[in-house]
Amino acid sequence: MDRSQLSASIIGELAQLFTETLGRNVPELLESDLDGIEQRLQEVARRVCGPVVEQVIQAIALAESGKRSRCPQCRQPMRLVDAQRRRNLRGLVGDYAIARPYFVCERCHQGCCPLDERLGIGPGEWSPGLTRVACRLGIDEAFGEVADVLSETLRIELPTETIRRVTEQIGSVAEDEAQSAVVLAQAGKEPLASQEVKAQSATLLVEVDGAMVHETDGEWHEVKSGLAAPLGPEVLVDERTGRSTLAMGSLPTARVSRAPRRSGIESTSRRVGKG
Ligand SMILES: [Zn+2]
Repeated sequence: MDRSQLSASIIGELAQLFTETLGRNVPELLESDLDGIEQRLQEVARRVCGPVVEQVIQAIALAESGKRSRCPQCRQPMRLVDAQRRRNLRGLVGDYAIARPYFVCERCHQGCCPLDERLGIGPGEWSPGLTRVACRLGIDEAFGEVADVLSETLRIELPTETIRRVTEQIGSVAEDEAQSAVVLAQAGKEPLASQEVKAQSATLLVEVDGAMVHETDGEWHEVKSGLAAPLGPEVLVDERTGRSTLAMGSLPTARVSRAPRRSGIESTSRRVGKG
């Protein structure tokens, strides 16, 4: 298979797009202060880089087109039903309208675009990079604040509700993976290898406590208990003070659930970094 490449004519077209787009913005650039110059150039960059991403993906699709696609479900060869299935994505450097081949499996009738997997594109309307950035912000900040930060830093307008939905979806995937690892560990098996765990950034709450227990030897012994749980991305707002804190997620193990559950991050709790 030939290596994917961008032809000289396509690179020339992209360079011309940049020249024309920049040229149209020169009057406003010359009237702006530095803040305005930066903002306008960010917008120029999004308009120019979006088509660059589209062309790069098209070249990758072309290079992959000779490969025989197999069904992810039953591994049978699949039939091409649409060579140019369209998909729109919002990304870190622009908006992309991409086209990629769509196949259907004759045996189990499952359809898929293998190029999505090659590119690391999941479901939804955002690129993996934009999803990661928004979720990382969404874990610590109110979702409206995330929308403001993304608008100011990336010149991208995203609905607060969509940020909330995507962050919660990623959070639930991360929690499912943690639960699976816990089940494996409790069964005495190796938990998932670290490269298989694709959880996004999260804050882990760890609490330790001790209590004196009267044991069968007639003596009092100190027993230690521990608790670990994800914090957020749900946010609790104190109606009285207006102060918002990350809500504690469900506890990952039956073993630790015997430990006293605390209502917040006060007491002996400690926030321990990010994963
Ligand atoms: Zn199949």
